[in-house]
Amino acid sequence: MQIKQILKLLQKIIPNNLLYLLQDIHSKILFRWILLKGSEPTAFNNKSAMVFSPHQDDETFGCGGMIALKREHGVPVTVAFLTDGQGSHGPDSQIKEKIVHIRKQEAVKALEILGVETSKIHFLEKPDGTLQDLQKEQREQTIQQLAELIKFSQPEEIYVPHRKDCHKDHEATYELVKEAIAQVGIKVELLQYPIWLLWRAPLFIMLKLHDIAAAYRLSIESVQHKKSKAIASYCSQLEGLPRGFVKRFLGSYEIFFKVE
Ligand SMILES: [Zn+2]
Repeated sequence: MQIKQILKLLQKIIPNNLLYLLQDIHSKILFRWILLKGSEPTAFNNKSAMVFSPHQDDETFGCGGMIALKREHGVPVTVAFLTDGQGSHGPDSQIKEKIVHIRKQEAVKALEILGVETSKIHFLEKPDGTLQDLQKEQREQTIQQLAELIKFSQPEEIYVPHRKDCHKDHEATYELVKEAIAQVGIKVELLQYPIWLLWRAPLFIMLKLHDIAAAYRLSIESVQHKKSKAIASYCSQLEGLPRGFVKRFLGSYEIFFKVE
């Protein structure tokens, strides 16, 4: 039986509350280990940035502090959302119809708090949950769209979800953006932000060390209040997320993994 199958089985037999508690403890230990032993400090820099976010909230959870720091110093930051975010509420939900619009509004609000102008926000509106299964033609078209955005913005840094972020859309975002960068042929620093990695990764010891190598911690203490406020604007999402999961993003550091 593979690890993923074992995890699925465990999820079926362990009650949700207990599972969240275990994940909370596990992610807390992993996060602390990376902060204290497994990362190097990095300071704020003036490089222009582009953040690719699979859903409306990942950019704020993963990079909200970095975005606010850069914007306070007048550094250009562009944010692109790949999916329409429709998958966060089940088919029976009353707000299912409106959720795409609601999440868009929440994203604009969160990014306004972090200092990003509306003109620097792009919504690609691919169907939520499909990024890994795009047909060849759709895939190429998506890469083309991403490449055009990169070409237009000419960022010095690009932020993507971790390549093993334990979520299909997140891992696909990493791959699609990487291919778009290659297509543009631009020289850019690629940084991965963890969202689900620390929460869902199967047990610390099973996570291969090279997956969490080249980690950097950025102090976001001076803009922590802005990030918390931006996270709070994602009302439609916060009720569905485990408390411990959200808490992990409210601290005074953000972690990034450099792609060498
Ligand atoms: Zn997401």
